[in-house]
Amino acid sequence: MGQAKARGTQAERMVQAQARIAATRPDKLVCNGCGGDVTDIHPVSTRGLQGIEAIWVGQCACGQTTFAASGEPKAVDAFFFALSENSELTLGSQSKDGQTHVKADSE
Ligand SMILES: [Zn+2]
Repeated sequence: MGQAKARGTQAERMVQAQARIAATRPDKLVCNGCGGDVTDIHPVSTRGLQGIEAIWVGQCACGQTTFAASGEPKAVDAFFFALSENSELTLGSQSKDGQTHVKADSE
């Protein structure tokens, strides 16, 4: 009983959430690599990221991936810090040729 109603409510909430996220969509991002305009922008799931409202990833023609995030400033800072720590994620698009650049701190 009431299952259809609950489903409708959830769908409504999803639509509202998507509309809220869509409202934060930037018209364009500035590429981290070449400084060009990136208009190929896609939303990324923010599940599990507290304080983050939306994350956008832009794929530049030069191959560089640029991220944009909105939400609480602290959470956004933490997100970009995590990105900088995770070089595999930020530089993933640059290792298409199979070359592996390992940043080793140990001698
Ligand atoms: Zn670029």
